[in-house]
Amino acid sequence: MLRQVAEGVLIHQSELLQNNAVVVQGRAGVLLIDPGIQGSEMACLANDLRELGQPVVAGFSTHPHWDHLLWHAKLGEAPRYGTARCAADIRNFLSDADWKANVAEGLPPEIAEEIPLDLFGLITGLPAETAHIPWDGPQVRIIEHQAHAPGHAALLIEELGVLVAGDMLSDVLIPMLDLNAADPIEDYLAALRLLEGVADDVDVLVPGHGSIGGADQVHARIDQDRAYVHALRDAHVPSDPRVGPSAKPGWEWVSDVHNGQAQRLARRSERDGTPG
Ligand SMILES: [Zn+2]
Repeated sequence: MLRQVAEGVLIHQSELLQNNAVVVQGRAGVLLIDPGIQGSEMACLANDLRELGQPVVAGFSTHPHWDHLLWHAKLGEAPRYGTARCAADIRNFLSDADWKANVAEGLPPEIAEEIPLDLFGLITGLPAETAHIPWDGPQVRIIEHQAHAPGHAALLIEELGVLVAGDMLSDVLIPMLDLNAADPIEDYLAALRLLEGVADDVDVLVPGHGSIGGADQVHARIDQDRAYVHALRDAHVPSDPRVGPSAKPGWEWVSDVHNGQAQRLARRSERDGTPG
């Protein structure tokens, strides 16, 4: 079911992982950002769009993680964009003959069979420094940064004040760092500064997973994420409602993610003699 969060911006939230697919109405059809996870959900979304008389004219994946790279044949054959780094990363992943087995390893077992992989990751990279998504609709600014995944992009629908944050600024997921990067802590802090730079233009915040936030939530979530990253950097126990007993039902596993990140960073600093 589609829910309007701003004039011409609709959200389809999946049951699992509270994954927010975002539909932006344009002149001749819609832009679809991070379409969803299960085949049935994407088919349902395709049906809703058909009933609205709105074909998908462009897609966008915020980053090269499996739950943001799916597609369903019923959504049609529009170009599916991502940043150049995002496209290069997924192209590299798909170049392994065993990629289907590799992606299957990371899927939640309870729904793995319902995740269609036929059209997985077919992303067209936009040239580096592309400022806006090329499509016939409201201007959507690409805010690329290195934080959660290579070529991660948040999107600002400028005239509507909607920030589609990808896997940043969630109320259920802690910052999940790209631990393969050279300096994941500083990358993440830089990305938060970048988002802070547009925060005053945002009325509606749509994270890749979790609850939609109003204008008051933007700075609050940036501050919360920064405090978490600082705690991680300084090897402190984070006082963060998303970790530990205060985690929302169904999100208890986030504590394991935190522990895993803390351990990997500790190993890195032991090895390099540097924090992070
Ligand atoms: Zn992700």
